Amino acid sequence: MKKMYINGKWVKARSGDIREIINPYNQEVIAQVAEGGEQDAKAAIQAARDAFDKGEWRQWNATQRADLLYQVAEKIKQYQRELAELETLNTGKTVVESEADMEGIAAVFQYYAGLADKDGGVVIQSPNPDTRSCLVREPVGVCGQITPWNYPLLQASWKLAPALAAGNTVVLKPSEITPLTTIRIAEIFEEVGFPPGVVNIVLGPGATVGAELAENHDVDLISFTGGGVTGRKIMQAAAGNFKKLSLELGGKNPNIVFADADFDTAVDYALNAVFFHAGQVCSAGARLLVEESIHDSFVEAVVEKAKQIRMGSGFDEKTQMGPVMSKEHLAKIEGYIRLGIEEGARLVLGGKRPDDPELQNGFFIEPTIFTNCRTHMRIVQEEVFGPVLTVETFQTEEEAIRLANDSLYGLAGAVWTQEMNRAQRVASELRMGTVWINDYHPYFPQAPWGGYKQSGIGRELGLIGLEEYTETKHVYQNINPQPMKWFD
Ligand code: NAD
Repeated sequence: MKKMYINGKWVKARSGDIREIINPYNQEVIAQVAEGGEQDAKAAIQAARDAFDKGEWRQWNATQRADLLYQVAEKIKQYQRELAELETLNTGKTVVESEADMEGIAAVFQYYAGLADKDGGVVIQSPNPDTRSCLVREPVGVCGQITPWNYPLLQASWKLAPALAAGNTVVLKPSEITPLTTIRIAEIFEEVGFPPGVVNIVLGPGATVGAELAENHDVDLISFTGGGVTGRKIMQAAAGNFKKLSLELGGKNPNIVFADADFDTAVDYALNAVFFHAGQVCSAGARLLVEESIHDSFVEAVVEKAKQIRMGSGFDEKTQMGPVMSKEHLAKIEGYIRLGIEEGARLVLGGKRPDDPELQNGFFIEPTIFTNCRTHMRIVQEEVFGPVLTVETFQTEEEAIRLANDSLYGLAGAVWTQEMNRAQRVASELRMGTVWINDYHPYFPQAPWGGYKQSGIGRELGLIGLEEYTETKHVYQNINPQPMKWFD
């Protein structure tokens, strides 16, 4: 049984509870892990609190912290294949995708290691020449971090690396269904020598462990990635002690294709935008907006290519798309497909589980495409988080912008055109945290990530992602103190 990592020790749940971890490809049990609860979360928070308030970590300088983060990056490169296979086993994504995740994770640790000791504060001008004013950045304190199941270790790295670079202590809770790589990285933190209590990994359900992290007054900051319903609960719970808050929520992201776009490249990327990782990507391009004059030929080309997508085991080199994450998630996606049909969208591909006998034990669903979609439909507005593409048409640039922005979400979007002035006009009008021009999906540590509107609050990655984990302190010194004589 795999244990939790609290205060530098590997511990069972206080209740003794255990959870079985399932491979979504065939429903086999691949591991047993400790199923923590509220008391375990409290213990982890106490350990992080003590490590922050009284531990040796407070005495470490930023260069020492950076040194450990560089070592974590190196270990991730060293164990890349092992970590990638573990991620594939737990999530069903292909090993090629998992390897790309691991490269991204090493890059994130490397990036924040590089940033850790670069901010020496700034001197500001105060109105009085006999004073000196400077601003310094300090760690926020104890950070609660809650991650989802679609990119288990990648999402963890986006939170752990900046929090530790800034000198905080951390309690991280991975999704209860995908904890394996997060447990493995705790071993790496132990191996490189983080002091006890600085990084704590607590396992278990959101409703108990996650809720405790959001509520507990010894937690100074809560950073959450997941769905909006949970995000709202966390925001309410965090209000108890006005925790600093960062929410990375969902998206329903438009991929806008103008008639002058490079046709073959745009078709190719339209598939990648939505079917990569079976659509379980917060920035998936699940809303295709195509200029009316090329609609029929474009959709035909996308459908023809989508028919060829090979589903299977993530460990099979031929596989292009794995299963979705769980039985419950599969049922949710199937529910949305039924809803799309009821709403009058035209199902032109997929919509069902594959017939292949080898895939019957896995949570597979065929690549699915709906045309004749209207913006108000729920299948267009709501996040399906599966391999389901909706297609709408537009006639003018203004209409494309209006439709794309007609969403509660504002995470990401793309525009395809060879007319660069138009690309820039559209990019500036889209109410989204990321806009790609003639591309889809790239992210990298230097560029901030996050959403407008109901896609979240705050940013991860980039310099701003480090600043989220800091407080700014103004230190003011009078260099020529004299009595004020105000009350004389
Ligand atoms: P989820 O909200 O169900 O769960 C996310 C995490 O929150 C899990 O660890 C879960 O245990 C925990 N949780 C559940 N209830 C909780 C509660 N009451 N209090 C505290 N924690 C609780 O989301 P999910 O199904 O795991 O992930 C899919 C969602 O994540 C999608 O909506 C997707 O768009 C979003 N996501 C967003 C980004 C982004 O960067 N914006 C990235 C990845 C995923």
